[in-house]
Amino acid sequence: MKKIGIIGAMELEVEELKGKMVIRRRVEKASMEFLEGKLNNTEVVIVRSGIGKVNAAICAQILCDCFKVTHIINTGVAGSLKNEINIGDIVVSTDALHHDVDVRVFGYPLGEVPQMGCLAFPADERLTQLAVSSCKEVNPEIAAYKGRIVSGDQFVSDKQVKEEIVSNFQGFCVEMEGASIAHAAYLNHVPFVIIRAISDKADDSAKMDYPSFEKAAAAHSAKLVEHMLPAI
Ligand code: SAH
Repeated sequence: MKKIGIIGAMELEVEELKGKMVIRRRVEKASMEFLEGKLNNTEVVIVRSGIGKVNAAICAQILCDCFKVTHIINTGVAGSLKNEINIGDIVVSTDALHHDVDVRVFGYPLGEVPQMGCLAFPADERLTQLAVSSCKEVNPEIAAYKGRIVSGDQFVSDKQVKEEIVSNFQGFCVEMEGASIAHAAYLNHVPFVIIRAISDKADDSAKMDYPSFEKAAAAHSAKLVEHMLPAI
């Protein structure tokens, strides 16, 4: 039977989903609260991982080991890396990578974790497609883009840093958790997708924009996740 693990880094990214689910069990592990139950008639485990790559990886591994989830969805907000992707729009992952890994000195491409055999972790194509088509149904006024998501332990709010990341990786948006959830899902052979609504443009305006738009953006992403669950 399918069981979907849903991770948001911050409470505001999962609070609406938690409020709508029927909770059967609460489990605390690694200082995270995992809520198991049903949402939109689908078996789910919803959790706030905390911010950053380490928290997110720990969280994804617990979902695999202790809850035996069959799929993982990461919902949340991100900074846009493309001019045409605006605040409020949605990016659905085709793959994800760590933009802050650099072992070029031993011949690895920038971003590749040594000895993993891949630069980017591919998202599940069916989940990606489903998220994009669900967005058209549930959020018809919002544009949904399919593309690479890049992650690092850094809030990108500087034009130059942004431009470097764009030219190195051709990402669609930048955030702080997706690649490590993708990494953990890849190692555990669990299909995953990352869904992020844009809260800022990851440049000098991000510090101002992010606090104004994070809540609405987080709600866009969560609404889409809720809608797509029964079709997984
Ligand atoms: N406001 C929080 C910190 C948020 S950090 C506090 O004060 O504690 C930003 C979060 O949003 C991360 O979870 C990250 O995944 C995402 N994010 C949004 N825009 C981002 C950007 N421009 N760069 C990196 N992460 C971003």
